Amino acid sequence: MAKDPNYIKLINTARWRSLRMKKLQSQPLCECEVCKELDKITPAEAVHHIVPIESVTTIEQMEVLMFDFNNLMSVSYECHNRIHRDMFSHTKVNVQKANERRTKRFIDRYL
Ligand SMILES: [Zn+2]
Ligand SMILES: [Zn+2]
Repeated sequence: MAKDPNYIKLINTARWRSLRMKKLQSQPLCECEVCKELDKITPAEAVHHIVPIESVTTIEQMEVLMFDFNNLMSVSYECHNRIHRDMFSHTKVNVQKANERRTKRFIDRYL
């Protein structure tokens, strides 16, 4: 993933780097479902986009998703990898369907 040139352009901006830092400072622990469920205290090292940037097509829409503070989730590297594995795993159809619905709701509301 993350091969889209617009995605690469947005992720390499100072704006994204400072937003990412702000997010990690305000939420320094992993917010993923698994850590929350198990009450695990896992330091977050990455920032995940809840509605994937790749779910929209124009750079304007991508920009909205990329820089929306409410679309960010602090995660550890390990949990981040797992989330992305789950998102693209074909056995997890329900997860994908839920993501699609969430994406559609978001687009209807904001874009
Ligand atoms: Zn986690
Ligand atoms: Zn992610």
